[in-house]
Amino acid sequence: MDLSVDVLIVGAGPTGLFGAYYAGFRGLSTALVDSLPEAGGQVTAMYPEKMIYDVGGFPAVRGRDLVKGLVEQAAPFEPRYLLGRKAEELRRGDDRLDVVLDGGDVVHARAMLITAGIGEFTPRPLPAAEGWLGRGVVHFVPALDVHAGQDVVVVGGGDSAFDWALALHPLAASVTLVHRRSKFRAAESIVAQARRNGTRIITDAEVTELRPGPGGVLAEVEVRVKGEETIVLPAQAVVAALGFTADLGPIENWGLDVHQRAIQVDSTMATGVDRVFAAGDVAAYPGKVKLIATGFGEAATAVNNIAVALDPGAHLFPGHSSNA
Ligand SMILES: Cc1cc2nc3c(=O)[nH]c(=O)nc-3n(C[C@H](O)[C@H](O)[C@H](O)COP(=O)(O)OP(=O)(O)OC[C@H]3O[C@@H](n4cnc5c(N)ncnc54)[C@H](O)[C@@H]3O)c2cc1C
Repeated sequence: MDLSVDVLIVGAGPTGLFGAYYAGFRGLSTALVDSLPEAGGQVTAMYPEKMIYDVGGFPAVRGRDLVKGLVEQAAPFEPRYLLGRKAEELRRGDDRLDVVLDGGDVVHARAMLITAGIGEFTPRPLPAAEGWLGRGVVHFVPALDVHAGQDVVVVGGGDSAFDWALALHPLAASVTLVHRRSKFRAAESIVAQARRNGTRIITDAEVTELRPGPGGVLAEVEVRVKGEETIVLPAQAVVAALGFTADLGPIENWGLDVHQRAIQVDSTMATGVDRVFAAGDVAAYPGKVKLIATGFGEAATAVNNIAVALDPGAHLFPGHSSNA
């Protein structure tokens, strides 16, 4: 891959996606790199089915729909998506930045916008599911309809586990939630909702084995319940919703001012490293509030300042999109 763009955006969460729109609006070409297989950052990975109530202009918007809208908004400017790829190394030249991705591909950029949020997510593994990832086991559900008519076992006791169980309930043949403790970390209201809709909930229980059926595809899940006999559940899918760990990882080695897993920026969203800007959850300054709404504003500020950094003759104010 030989790719040169004006702006490389590291992180395709809501902030990076809006940054891609804004860069396009400013006439800058972009690529977005994200280690997740889908765009949308925390929203896609952790709460795509939840309603969000504090994004301007949307009294209520489902996470999945907000991400879809952001992707659509950027689409006319044809950003290049490099999904399932991790930005590992930053090399600084005189007038360009080279960003090395996992696997060794290099993206050449005139400027960079880091919108890496809380970093790269690594799902907590389900030990019994080792070797089953992508063969019936997922950590999050990119498309619900894939599970229509399936027996699904959701493992976990937090908000995400219950969110998936509730979202899958109307279309799956059966949904069983297995949690290794008797108490849940999830909000009481969604636990109550799952109980009301008849989701089978097995507590004090651990998934001990996944078993294939004919053709080697996932067919059954063995669950050991404390003090009771082992249960075998039919399952064509397992959602291992045990949470994620997040880590800025390689970005910490890029010569930026990083404190408590956030990059210090000034009021233009500049990081202090020439032509490297940051916005969204990853960017820190006094009074910072980590919200989607603030990420949007910061992305616009960052990109307009990038436009001037790349062309000192350019106006900082972009003009009104309504006049475009
Ligand atoms: C359960 C939950 C509910 C929430 N509800 C709300 C709400 O109602 N309203 C609200 O405003 N906010 C809410 N938030 C917070 C909101 O989701 C975040 O503020 C928002 O996602 C930040 O967006 P971002 O684009 O800055 O970062 P993120 O969404 O974190 O996206 C960053 C992306 O960068 C990628 N990345 C990181 N490092 C690399 C690398 N080296 N290479 C490649 N990719 C990389 C990650 O994979 C990730 O996809 C909620 C968060 C959670 C967890």
